[in-house]
Amino acid sequence: MTRVVEHEPNAASTPRGGPRRVIPIQPTADEVALYEIRKKIQPRAVHGWFARWRVALVFATQIVYYGLPWLSWNGRQAVLFDLAARKFYLFGGVFWPQDVIYLAVLLIVGALSLFLFTAVAGRLWCGYACPQTVYTEIFMWIERKIEGDRVARLRLDGAPMSPRKFALRSAKHAAWLAVASWTGYTFVGYFTPIRDLGHAVATLALGPWEAFWILFYSATTYGNAGWLREQVCKYMCPYARFQSVMFDKDTLVITYDRARGEPRGGRAKSVDPRAKGLGDCVDCGICVQVCPTGIDIRKGLQHECIGCAACIDACDQVMDRMGYAPGLIRYTTENALERQLPDRARWRRVLRPRTLAYALVLLAMVGATAWSLATRVPLRVDVIRDRGTLAREAGPGVIENVYRIQVMNTDERPRHYTVEASGLPGLRVVGLDQPIELEAASARLFALRLQAPLEPGEGKPPLAPGSHKIEIEVGSVAAGAKGKELEHDHVERHEQSTFIVPR
Ligand code: SF4
Ligand code: SF4
Repeated sequence: MTRVVEHEPNAASTPRGGPRRVIPIQPTADEVALYEIRKKIQPRAVHGWFARWRVALVFATQIVYYGLPWLSWNGRQAVLFDLAARKFYLFGGVFWPQDVIYLAVLLIVGALSLFLFTAVAGRLWCGYACPQTVYTEIFMWIERKIEGDRVARLRLDGAPMSPRKFALRSAKHAAWLAVASWTGYTFVGYFTPIRDLGHAVATLALGPWEAFWILFYSATTYGNAGWLREQVCKYMCPYARFQSVMFDKDTLVITYDRARGEPRGGRAKSVDPRAKGLGDCVDCGICVQVCPTGIDIRKGLQHECIGCAACIDACDQVMDRMGYAPGLIRYTTENALERQLPDRARWRRVLRPRTLAYALVLLAMVGATAWSLATRVPLRVDVIRDRGTLAREAGPGVIENVYRIQVMNTDERPRHYTVEASGLPGLRVVGLDQPIELEAASARLFALRLQAPLEPGEGKPPLAPGSHKIEIEVGSVAAGAKGKELEHDHVERHEQSTFIVPR
């Protein structure tokens, strides 16, 4: 019920703070609350096959997340996204802004994987690997260890503040904050060498951006996993909203077998439910108690369901205690339930043309990317014409063009390079001290002067005015080489450009 407070009609004569009346406004039939008032959910702990998978994935993802920045490779951090230097280090590879194609491929592979796994088995990502699920799982584990099981937590919630409640709540929030801070610190450790970052934190010498991102990421983790929890999945996550378009009647989803379970009702273990006209659901409500989003799967597929399978584990335990077959709640498809399909037929439909097409495209993209990375040349060359000087006469009968050339050594060791040009008779590089040396993972930008004689002689025709295609070749040579003594693992790049002869 909404309450509106108004001043008396003769407010002009009423002193400020004078009598006021409260007009109760009854909601009309059309009036709907915009936001549902949140009911705190205290999920019951659950054990079982799917819970073990979830715990395994929590460990796997967190070992990778917290451990990766501490790995070393060739004397540097193995995984480092050095935004300031605009270089990404991924184990043996050094990626530059020019390699942005790999980022695009990574995003496409991520999107395709999401389409594939959602089309096959619904919200697998949400239920097992999404950071929101993983950190909520970690935070709930801490909560259980400190405040006790569901019943103890519900009692604590309802109890007035006391020294014990204060101590338990303080310990819980301190542990949450510690995990959240370590998570924020690790996140920034992917962008700033993590050991240097640790030293900067210890000596209070953090830069403003590092401090901001550590605090921001820590606060986000603490808020989302500690306080908001299922609200993030229900109201904030866009994936929850559009995933339904990726489902069809052959998508595996967690479903309550209504035909088997209904009519539901309590009974003793010794009672034959068929004789009593009952289904297999004993209406114990445990599937609701374990649900992290607080929904009742028996009402059908709901967008709040994150596919964590906690209700499957819980119900299977109840079925086991009652001596019934497991699977009253299980992964199945709408078609399988409607048509009572056997397992083989169900799996044949799960592997349908749509999912096979996703899988093939995904495999092709992953294969092509792996091949491209394996055969990647650790040298990049960019050539652009100097805009200041198009073409000029460098001497009698000699035309000179100037270029700006950037050579990037993306290898993990220093290399020496020579630069050559071809495509016109007598075309040569001038004024460049060769070979040029580049440190590991470094780039050099310099002016490149090319000269060509207007009359090359030896029976060759004179250079015609206009634009001529040429090729600039950069190749690695052995250290200390006087001429073009190739390295044992020689690399080279050829770049196309033009040479202009004025009229
Ligand atoms: S856990 Fe199983 S038996 Fe208990 S209420 Fe849920 S569906 Fe019914
Ligand atoms: S309904 Fe079952 S699978 Fe869905 S969120 Fe709740 S417990 Fe997890």
